[in-house]
Amino acid sequence: MTKIIAIFDIDGTLIDARGAGHRAMRQAFREVLGEPDALNRADFAGRTDWPLFWEAAVHTRVPTALIDWAAVQAAYFSQLSTELANSPPTVLPGVGELLFALAASKHFLLRLGTGNFYRSACLKLSAVGLWRYFPQGGGFADDGPDRPAILRAARRTAPAATHAVVIGDTPYDVEAAHAESLACLAVATGRFSADQLSRSGADTVLESLSDPNSVMSQLMAMATPCAGPY
Ligand SMILES: [Mg+2]
Repeated sequence: MTKIIAIFDIDGTLIDARGAGHRAMRQAFREVLGEPDALNRADFAGRTDWPLFWEAAVHTRVPTALIDWAAVQAAYFSQLSTELANSPPTVLPGVGELLFALAASKHFLLRLGTGNFYRSACLKLSAVGLWRYFPQGGGFADDGPDRPAILRAARRTAPAATHAVVIGDTPYDVEAAHAESLACLAVATGRFSADQLSRSGADTVLESLSDPNSVMSQLMAMATPCAGPY
């Protein structure tokens, strides 16, 4: 039977966290390193969380070898939890219905493939009741230095999958999917327009995920046959 692993990005694809992650990182850098502005000099676009932390750290006065990364990460999670409680993310159009339908289908295996840490992914999605769709997790910033490594980690959590497809909102998701020979459905609910996503080579581009039945049949039609090991 066809078993499709559908690997979802989080920010801009499932939810709009409305800057909670950025604010929490700034506060964590202030709290642990005394330098909230280091992040202003880092480029967030397409970065996964560890490389972003490392790049921002170069702009602090603390030598990177002396930074207590576990403390920075713990402060980030604690601040993120507060930020999300004060200002919950927005679930993007159609996402709740789509995840419900995919979870109920015997053909789909739902996983995450995100630049967030596992813990921040859990905090963000729990804040809007979507974490329950991803009990098997997927691939996270903890699993590798870049997006292709994160996608491979996601695939390792679903060895029974016969097909795979990636759903994301940036050209970086498209690039990573293609680097792993996977199809990518790109959705223009993040920072990039449908035009930009088409130009990046996305296999399918949608303005939103607001028509769950149509999204589901497109995912079925476009999923790439795959076989392990990864
Ligand atoms: Mg995204």
